[in-house]
Amino acid sequence: MFLTGEMLIGQQSVTGSSAPISAINPATGERLEPVYLGGSEAEVERAATLAWQAFDAFRETTLSQRAEFLNAIAIEIEALGDVLVERIIAETGLPRARVEGERARTCMQLRLFAEVVSRGDWLDVRVEPALPDRQPLPRLDMRLRQIPLGPVAVFGASNFPLAFSVAGGDTASALASGCPVIVKAHSSHPGTSELVGRAVQKAAAQCSMPEGVFSVLFGSGREVGAKLVAHKFIKAVGFTGSFSGGTALMNIAQARKEPIPVYAEMSSSNPVFLLQGALSTRSAALAETFVTTLNNCAGQFCTSPGLLIAEKGALLSSFVESASAFMNESSTNTMLTPGIYEAYEKGLSLLNDNPNVRRLAQAKESDLPNQCRGSLFSVGAKDFIQDESLHEEVFGSAAIIVECDNFEEMVLVAESLEGQLTATIQADESDLGVAKHLMPTLERKAGRLLVNGWPPGLEVNHATVHGGPFPATSDSRTTSVGSAAITRFLRPVCYQSVPDMLLPDALQQSNPLMLKRLYNGDWEV
Ligand code: NAP
Repeated sequence: MFLTGEMLIGQQSVTGSSAPISAINPATGERLEPVYLGGSEAEVERAATLAWQAFDAFRETTLSQRAEFLNAIAIEIEALGDVLVERIIAETGLPRARVEGERARTCMQLRLFAEVVSRGDWLDVRVEPALPDRQPLPRLDMRLRQIPLGPVAVFGASNFPLAFSVAGGDTASALASGCPVIVKAHSSHPGTSELVGRAVQKAAAQCSMPEGVFSVLFGSGREVGAKLVAHKFIKAVGFTGSFSGGTALMNIAQARKEPIPVYAEMSSSNPVFLLQGALSTRSAALAETFVTTLNNCAGQFCTSPGLLIAEKGALLSSFVESASAFMNESSTNTMLTPGIYEAYEKGLSLLNDNPNVRRLAQAKESDLPNQCRGSLFSVGAKDFIQDESLHEEVFGSAAIIVECDNFEEMVLVAESLEGQLTATIQADESDLGVAKHLMPTLERKAGRLLVNGWPPGLEVNHATVHGGPFPATSDSRTTSVGSAAITRFLRPVCYQSVPDMLLPDALQQSNPLMLKRLYNGDWEV
C-alpha cells in the first residue's frame, strides 16, 4: 500500500497544516518518507464532532454487527502482509520475529473482543422485577445494564506499534463497548499508524459503520493530544507511555469542566524476588534467563524485570557472578527512538553517579546508532529503601540487584515499592512457606503476581490483568489488556418502571438477546 502522509478522519483522508513529523529508522538514523503534517485544532474539532455524531448509531449496532467489525479489522490488518511488517521494522528497529508475533497477538486480541461483544455478558444485566404486593411498600421494576461512555481518545505507545497502538487493546476494547475511537498516533511510527488506520477505515466501510466511528490524527502530544483530551465530546482516554505523558493527560482531563477518566499505563520496575531454595538449585539457569529476558528487544517492555531482590550470601554471589558473565558477553540491541536511547543513557548515568550503587556488568560496546547496552547494578537494601530515585523505572535493559541482610529485609523492600504492573517470586518447593509471607504485600503492590516465570510475554485472555496501583497505572481498578479491559469504557444505567417497549433489547422481559442475567437475585438460564 502507498503511504500518503495523511490523517484519517472518518472515511476522509486529510492533510495536516502544523509541524511535520518524519519517522526515523533507529537502526540507521535514516529519515523515512513520507512526511506527516500534524493536525491542528480544526482536525481535532472535526474528528471529535464526527465521533460524537456517530456515537448513538454505533452504540445501537447489534452485538453481531460490532463483532463483525472487529473481525474485519483483524482480516484487513493481516491483508497488509509484509508491507506492514517491513514498515514496522524500519520505524522501530524491532526484530522481525517480534513484529510478526505482535501482529498475531493484535489480531487475536481483536477476535477475542469480537467474541466478548457477541456473548454480551459485559452488559451485566440485572433485573429486579416489580413486587406490587411487597409489604410494607411495593417494589418498583428496576433493570440495570452497562452503556458505553462516548468517544475515546487513544494514545499509541512507541514500544508496541501494533498491540498498544492504532488498533491495539485500547481501541479494540473501546470499539467493543460501543465507543467511537480517535487515535493520536505515536510520532515514532506514523507509517505503521497510517497503514493500520487505513485497515480500520476499510473495515468500517465494509461493515457499514457510521462515519466517525474511527479517526487517526498525527501531531505532537502537547498540541493535538492535549486538545483532544480537553475536547467536550471526548469521554475517556486510553494511554500507554511515559509517566510524564500519562500524568500530563490526567491533569488535563481533571481540569475540564466535565472531568473524564484517563486509563494510563505508565511506569513499572517489575520486582523479582529470588528466594533461597530457587537460588540453591538453579542459580545459573536463573541468571541466564534473567539476562536474556532483560536484553530481549532492548528491555523495551512495560514488564521488563528492572529489580531483583535477594538475601546476601554465597548463593547470591554465585548468581551475580553468572548473571554478570552473561551480561558482559551480551550484544547490544537497537532502541525504538533516539529519544528513548537518550533517556536510557541518562538513567544509566544517574545510577553510575550514585555513590551507593555498584556497577556489576555491561553488554559489549557497539558503533551502531541508538544501541542499548544491557547493564546490571547492585545496591544494599537500606540504601534502596531510602533513595526514591532508585525506585524509578529505567526504560531499557537495566536492572538493579537489591541485596538484603535477611528475609525480613526483603519484605521491607517489598513494602517500600510503588505500585507495579507485576511482581514475581522465584521459589522452589522449600521456599513456599516463606513466599506465603510475601504474597499479601505483593498483592497490594501489583496487578499481576507470577511464580517461577518472567513478566514479559503477557498472555491476552479473560484472566489477564495488565494494571496495578499508581504509578504503574492511573487507575488500579482496571486492566488495559485482556477481555476485562472493556469495563473501562462502560457505565451502569438503571431503568426504573420503564415500559417494555421503551427498554433496550438486553433488558426486555422476554430476554430476546438470550443474555445471562441476574434476575431477582439469581442467574437466569
Ligand atoms: P511518551 O513520551 O509518553 O509518548 C506517548 C504518547 O503520549 C505520544 O503520543 C506522545 O506524543 C504523547 N505525549 C507525551 N507527553 C505528552 C504530554 N505532556 N502531553 C500530551 N501528550 C503527550 O512515551 P514514549 O514516546 O513511548 O516513550 C518515552 C519514555 O516513556 C521512554 O523513554 C520510557 O521511559 C517511557 N515508556 C514507558 C513505557 C512503559 O510501558 N512503562 C512504555 C513506553 C515508554 P508525541 O507523539 O508528541 O511524542
